[in-house]
Amino acid sequence: MPPSRDPEQILNSVFGYPAFRGQQEAVIRHLVDGGDALVLMPTGGGKSLCYQIPALVRPGLAVVVSPLIALMKDQVDALVQLGVRAAVLNSSLAAAEAAAVERAAGTGALDLLYVAPERLLTERFQTLLERTPLALFAIDEAHCVSQWGHDFRPDYLALEVLHRRFPAVPRIALTATADAPTRADIVERLGLGGARQFVSGFDRPNIRYRIVPKLKPRDQLLRFLEDGHRGDAGIVYCLSRRKVEETAGWLAEQGWPALPYHAGLDADTRRKHQERFILEEGVVVVATVAFGMGIDKPNVRFVAHLDIPKSVEGYYQETGRAGRDGLPADAWLAYGMGDVVGMRRLLEGGEGDAAHKRLEQRKLDALLGYCETAECRRQVLLRYFGEELPEPCGNCDTCLEPVVTWDGTEAAQKALSCIFRTGQRFGAAYLVDVLLGRETERVQRFGHERVSTFGIGGELDELEWRSVFRQLAAAGLVRADHQRMGAMQLTARSGPVLRGEERLVLRRDPAPRRVPRRLAASRAARVGLTQAGDRDLFERLRELRLELARAQGVPPYVIFHDATLQAMAVERPQTLSGLAGITGVGERKLDRYGEAFLGVLRGAVGGGEGGVDA
Ligand code: ADP
Ligand code: ZN
Repeated sequence: MPPSRDPEQILNSVFGYPAFRGQQEAVIRHLVDGGDALVLMPTGGGKSLCYQIPALVRPGLAVVVSPLIALMKDQVDALVQLGVRAAVLNSSLAAAEAAAVERAAGTGALDLLYVAPERLLTERFQTLLERTPLALFAIDEAHCVSQWGHDFRPDYLALEVLHRRFPAVPRIALTATADAPTRADIVERLGLGGARQFVSGFDRPNIRYRIVPKLKPRDQLLRFLEDGHRGDAGIVYCLSRRKVEETAGWLAEQGWPALPYHAGLDADTRRKHQERFILEEGVVVVATVAFGMGIDKPNVRFVAHLDIPKSVEGYYQETGRAGRDGLPADAWLAYGMGDVVGMRRLLEGGEGDAAHKRLEQRKLDALLGYCETAECRRQVLLRYFGEELPEPCGNCDTCLEPVVTWDGTEAAQKALSCIFRTGQRFGAAYLVDVLLGRETERVQRFGHERVSTFGIGGELDELEWRSVFRQLAAAGLVRADHQRMGAMQLTARSGPVLRGEERLVLRRDPAPRRVPRRLAASRAARVGLTQAGDRDLFERLRELRLELARAQGVPPYVIFHDATLQAMAVERPQTLSGLAGITGVGERKLDRYGEAFLGVLRGAVGGGEGGVDA
């Protein structure tokens, strides 16, 4: 790469993108001018370009520190496709390969070198660096340096040495984890006190958040998948290994290419399933939370939760694995009474002292509040991270199908008093029977057809009562006793409601059978492929992409992103120069793949599908 080029020119010609996003340009200029930077951007915000472009503008070798071998390989594969001289140096290489990479780095034959921290810190490698002109150091996933973060790596601590040994080389640290203690920790531990901070918001506007009351979770999941996710890659999270296995097996029976992933599977199977997710199109992985970390697949179109995560942070991180490419993506969660009870039990039985448990409890409460909110989900989510979204987002379930709220004070009083009258010994299902006046065998056995709350709940049906109990549990107005099969008990907070000192607003859950029309738009419509011809063409372009990717053993998205194929399908360029105008088509890819894709595009117009003039 000639080193004297302008960042914007490189963005256009190498990466094929028309414009910078967000703070990218500011970060890049700062780094090119030799400044240090700390960059906090949400997933999919475009962090990589922030150091990749300066690496090409500044003379010398750019060294990128990254904790995950799979990620490094992915990034380097993508750069090589763009014609950038990049390589990776980590424990996955044989000694001879590693030596060749080191030689290339030392002779100026590389622009970017991705290294694992432990390798970077060896004396041998440090000596090599001292002999090599350096463009910059990039420290990716910089939160790994912090014990506060979720992914602490002791090797990262020693990266501080870079600052002392190479004081003249600009450094950029990047992360998507941005809570204040972690950020302060990164600055301190990496000696970035003088660095300029570029902090972007947390919002992921292309993700549509949706939470449904859990009734028949499998059927609900299937309906969610069928409403527009055929052929899409996605992740389904479950809490237990067993549920992962069962759900994956069941989805496969229903004709979905679903694979299980959890820590109980042997390493080989895990690797295979992860590889298929990355290298193939449209694979659904059913997983415990272990899956997804360090996977950079940009076209994950949905993340579904069959159980609630432990905290809002967990939810944000897991759902954040969807839609890194900026195209529409779904975050879907089925949530019910069982989740509230189960998660509370997990916390109470878990490790840690009382203070720790209180903290976890508060985190769970925040998540439950999010699940039960009648407000815009995105507003609640961002507020949790200290960010204020001035207007409702228009892209979550509560915005698209506003939730009706009702004065649930009287219903809550009936429910609470029914718990009390029956001795705080029964679960919600039984209590609903009593409230509805059902003389079941069990009710008769305990003589509860004679308590004062028997049959006083006729104004609501069974589902509505279950919703009331769930909301009471979520709000901490009742608790489930795990020693006694989830028996409902009153709490200190029940009193004011029972006595009528506190009014209670509840949400009315949407009717279960109806899939709201606006939420069920097909995938094609959501990604802007409204015409049947465009859709077919997109699928054919996808097939070609997969073929090309297979031949090279790289993930399809490394050839072209979905957004690029979509733009091709809609605009249907017929010439190389037309194709060059499509976002994501840089010089090198035009050379390499232009004719092949034009072949498909020309065929489409010739095929008389109402093609568009080029
Ligand atoms: P992050 O590391 O912040 O999660 P990436 O660097 O992987 O994000 O970028 C996310 C996606 O957005 C990538 O596929 C990248 O190619 C694309 N992208 C980044 N910057 C731009 C831009 N200026 N224009 C178009 N696409 C971009
Ligand atoms: Zn909203």
